[in-house]
Amino acid sequence: MEPARLSLNTATVRQRWTLRQCIEGCARHGIGGIAPWRDMLAACGVEEAARLIVGHGLTVTGLCRGGMFPAATAEGRRQAIDDNRRAIDEAAAIGAQCLVLVVGGLPEGSKDIAGARAQVRDGIAAVLDHARAAKVPLAIEPLHPMYAGDRSCVNTVAQANALCDELGAGVGIALDVYHVWWDPDLPAGIARAGRERLLAFHVCDWLVPTRDLLLDRGMMGDGVIDIAAIRAQVEAAGYDGLVEVEIFSRDHWWQEDPDGVLRTMIDRARTCV
Ligand code: ZN
Repeated sequence: MEPARLSLNTATVRQRWTLRQCIEGCARHGIGGIAPWRDMLAACGVEEAARLIVGHGLTVTGLCRGGMFPAATAEGRRQAIDDNRRAIDEAAAIGAQCLVLVVGGLPEGSKDIAGARAQVRDGIAAVLDHARAAKVPLAIEPLHPMYAGDRSCVNTVAQANALCDELGAGVGIALDVYHVWWDPDLPAGIARAGRERLLAFHVCDWLVPTRDLLLDRGMMGDGVIDIAAIRAQVEAAGYDGLVEVEIFSRDHWWQEDPDGVLRTMIDRARTCV
């Protein structure tokens, strides 16, 4: 795969580069897209970021992230909804193809995962009209079940598809190989999602052993995920967007020179994606 088909999720180099440096780095390496995180977007300024992104001809494959809907109190849930509306506006301002939703885990003190899932559904429903009006699709990202407690109680593509069924137009899926590669129902879930719902495709690799639940993701080719096989399924379902590289790697890739990380990404995309 050529670099123009890749998108850089800014988390991959976030320890060393600002958003401006990420944008300029993508342009320098011929990478076609970018997916900023909101804190880096805020540090740059939304208008300035939009100007830089357009000026460098980059596609924005997503804004990371909205979500985190469940809360212990009605006030907490309301604040989450307000914050998601702001995230939708930011996504629209930078022309993002979607707002990625990491939907949230259990509210503090709760053991009610079914209740948390209902809060997620209600939270998305509460911001959906705003998202539709802004023309920003909401991309539910199923997260690996090890995050069900604290980050996302939506853990499979089947669950995400069911939410899409329930909520209707304007909601789709961000498929990240790191979270879903293990799922025996993945091929069926991708086929069912289809072109309409597949809003983003994220890649990295699952290292064996994995040393940290959050910050030990691998570069494509260094782990056990058959990324090419999943990409083939996604493309057979009609996805023709960019392939977003998203690597949280505190002890390895975050320590490297970002230009070298981008060169490695491009190299691995040619052979392992
Ligand atoms: Zn992701």
